[in-house]
Amino acid sequence: MIIVNELALSDRLRAVALEIPIGSKLADIGSDHAYLPCFAALQGLICYAVAGEVNVGPFQSAKNQVEKSNLPDRIKVRKGNGLEVIEKGEVDVITIAGMGGPLISEILEAGKDRLTGNERLILQPNIGAKSIRLWLLENGWELIKEHILEEDQKIYEIVVAEKGNPYIPYSNEKRDSDLLLGPFLKKEKNEAFRKKWGSELLKWQKIIEQIDQKAQNEETVEKRKDLMNKVRMVKEVLHDEIS
Ligand code: SAM
Repeated sequence: MIIVNELALSDRLRAVALEIPIGSKLADIGSDHAYLPCFAALQGLICYAVAGEVNVGPFQSAKNQVEKSNLPDRIKVRKGNGLEVIEKGEVDVITIAGMGGPLISEILEAGKDRLTGNERLILQPNIGAKSIRLWLLENGWELIKEHILEEDQKIYEIVVAEKGNPYIPYSNEKRDSDLLLGPFLKKEKNEAFRKKWGSELLKWQKIIEQIDQKAQNEETVEKRKDLMNKVRMVKEVLHDEIS
């Protein structure tokens, strides 16, 4: 955690902020308390921001924080769903943090027409980063960086993308594994990465054991196949750590 002007920012959001190029115009979607845009403004990272919120409580909380930080000139708090709070071309960085990967992908899909392709997307899913990687791949966004970190016993992934050749980070033979684990993260295999996938592996193996103890039907056979496939991909990458 880092504290700037009485604003305490988690390591997770700080890692997101560190990917914002200096001088950017930012849209933070699902901003809640607006800590991220306030921190970015106080640190001199951004010249302008939109903090978007769909729910009234968090919208009010964002407004309060922006007032408290004396930033209403630079940060506009807007109520609305996903990317509908921005005009096309209004910002050059979009952050969406602290939600599930499928919801982040839905927000991007629903708001595609608000993107010019000149933006940097900095996305921090709490779970299901794979669905974001898939969306980026299918929509011409190139994954340029990934981070994984642990804070308060939770592990978070951050993916950064810009318009480009979306196939560049992926290998042809191992695309499924790259999409699940992250092409950059699986090369680095840091401690948080090994911890996350080691624990997923144990969870999946337990589910497979439970499936094997019961009568099978079409659904459980399919589920078992999917889990076995994921176990194989993860074991292949964690090779040194898991026997
Ligand atoms: N981004 C902050 C963070 O990472 O700490 C807040 C994360 S909070 C768990 C998720 C926020 O996203 C909630 O305040 C929720 O109201 C907002 N949200 C969910 N779906 C949204 C959508 N479609 N458009 C805008 N905001 C949304």
